[in-house]
Amino acid sequence: MLNKKLLYDTIEKFNAPLGEKAYERLERYAELLVETNKSFNLTAITQPEEVTVKHFADCLAVFKYVDFPENSSLIDIGTGAGFPGLVLLIARPDLKVTLLDSTKKKLGFIESVLKGTGLNAQTVHARAEEAGKMPEYREKFDFAAARAVANLTNLSEYCLPFVKVGGRFVSMKSAAADDEILQAKKAVSLLGGEICGDNLFDLVENVSRRILVIKKISQTPTKYPRASAKIAKKPIK
Ligand code: SAM
Repeated sequence: MLNKKLLYDTIEKFNAPLGEKAYERLERYAELLVETNKSFNLTAITQPEEVTVKHFADCLAVFKYVDFPENSSLIDIGTGAGFPGLVLLIARPDLKVTLLDSTKKKLGFIESVLKGTGLNAQTVHARAEEAGKMPEYREKFDFAAARAVANLTNLSEYCLPFVKVGGRFVSMKSAAADDEILQAKKAVSLLGGEICGDNLFDLVENVSRRILVIKKISQTPTKYPRASAKIAKKPIK
């Protein structure tokens, strides 16, 4: 199902720690993804080469731009079918990974992958803006990560409340995110963040991606995150 050579060729430049066991786990993950996708729409990407590059290699690229100390904690907000959190866990099983999504069925899929690969992670069925107010999750993580969930302004309101001061929020974007980043500057700063890395790269030829790294430099004011409707109607400007 996976294209091993393509995967290794693509991630070679990302310093991604991928041993044989991790590769076997990714293979199992890909099989379950394609199988489950026949009855429940998890992803539009199902061809082996595409799953290899646009899901797995794309998530593994994070290792080039973020250094995860051993045993650090990470929450993936709006993880969907497990991207990027589950891929990062497969590469680095020492990480304490929490996978959050508002769709219960997607978390059911993730649990089947955890079982099928023998890995452990916490799954949380909640909206980010609700979980971010709960004491057990608020400012409790070394890292938050998200891909394809919301624009950077709203995403910062979803994600920064989870990150400890001194931690990082990693936002995976397409290359053409200049306006979005500019518009989000106020929100990032108000929520206690500071952009410390803006990394543009080619995943493969003609597929450009961008990984933003935002450092949490002060606590998020308690009024954030606001309720979903408020975030949607009145984004921080
Ligand atoms: N991150 C995955 C990826 O890159 O393939 C999934 C992306 S999918 C387009 C967006 C996911 O975010 C969906 O699974 C959706 O349920 C979840 N989501 C959107 N808004 C959310 C929120 N406010 N709180 C929790 N999950 C949310």
